[in-house]
Amino acid sequence: MIIKEDFCLTSFNTFGVESLAYELAIVTSIDNLDELFKAGKLRENILIISKGSNILLTGNFIGLVLLNQIWGKEIVEENDNHIFLKVNAGEFWPSLVEYTVNKGWGGLENMTDIPGKVGAAPIQNIGAYGAELKDVLVKMEAFNLKTGKIETFSNSDCNFGYRTSIFKTEYKNRYFITNVTLKLSKKPIVNLSYAPLREAFKDRNKSEITIKEVSDKIAEIRKSKLPDPDKLCNAGSFFKNPIIEMEQLHDLKQEFISVPNYPQKDSTYKIPAGWLIEQCGLKGKREGNIGVHDKQALVIVKYGNATGYEILKFAESIKKAVAEKFKIKLEFEVNVV
Ligand code: NAP
Repeated sequence: MIIKEDFCLTSFNTFGVESLAYELAIVTSIDNLDELFKAGKLRENILIISKGSNILLTGNFIGLVLLNQIWGKEIVEENDNHIFLKVNAGEFWPSLVEYTVNKGWGGLENMTDIPGKVGAAPIQNIGAYGAELKDVLVKMEAFNLKTGKIETFSNSDCNFGYRTSIFKTEYKNRYFITNVTLKLSKKPIVNLSYAPLREAFKDRNKSEITIKEVSDKIAEIRKSKLPDPDKLCNAGSFFKNPIIEMEQLHDLKQEFISVPNYPQKDSTYKIPAGWLIEQCGLKGKREGNIGVHDKQALVIVKYGNATGYEILKFAESIKKAVAEKFKIKLEFEVNVV
């Protein structure tokens, strides 16, 4: 296996920031991981990069970058109602969604066009428009970087939560996820729980709406709001939507009566971070080559040359403004390295 030295990561992160990896290995199979383990290379500081669409590199990476390129997918089980699809970590998520939608297998359509690769999806339990990976994931396999063994995780083993999992908390940086098995429906029922979808299909009978139509509509909405990283550097939502307790929501409503909020199953409330940022007057704000996107305040964009560290400082200034105005602590969704 070839290990490259002083490898430039600029085209391997969608922010397009300049950063050098001390070493980099392209992983196309589990055999590659075995080889690296046996050579003692996995004892180093490790960073796994898939598409680089949810990462902010704030300097050079002094360690070994593993570039996830394990391709392939196969049906492992099928019955009258479901398809069980095993998908390797290097597959591009939007292409996977397109493939399943074209086959008529339901479950992923609301997650159309989330940029990134399959291996990164369980880490933060990706989700959009009322669907999350945890709704379809049956199990997944991962290579333990410390022991060199492949381990299997059931859905419940992953401790999925709102944009989080065990791989973001307790097992952070401990595993290379190699594949996931998804349970998809051959008789899909469309999920129109989010307002923009309900609105788009309001004149239609729900039973007649296809997953392809839902997927196409989401692609259209996303295109109208979100910057294309190939044209304007960004890493999608920079901030997570904060979850607050009922008492805090009550206090917030005293001052901001129209604060949007979505009740969670555990009697907490999700507040859209984009709304908080917008209320601070920061939507569209630009400082040098860094800015808050003018159509979606959750997204930080880079217009020209800027370092990862400068982007981090900018993001922290947004956090500070929100904390001062609302007493809410925003968390980064993007993985800051
Ligand atoms: P929006 O309609 O402006 O709503 C703002 C936020 O409110 C969303 O982030 C969403 O949370 C929440 N929300 C809206 N309707 C909801 C409902 N019925 N139940 C619970 N929560 C609700 O949303 P947007 O910013 O355009 O995003 C639309 C969808 O695309 C969202 O699901 C969002 O997660 C997804 N998206 C993801 C990224 C990314 O990079 N990860 C970027 C942009 C958009 P949730 O985010 O929890 O769904």
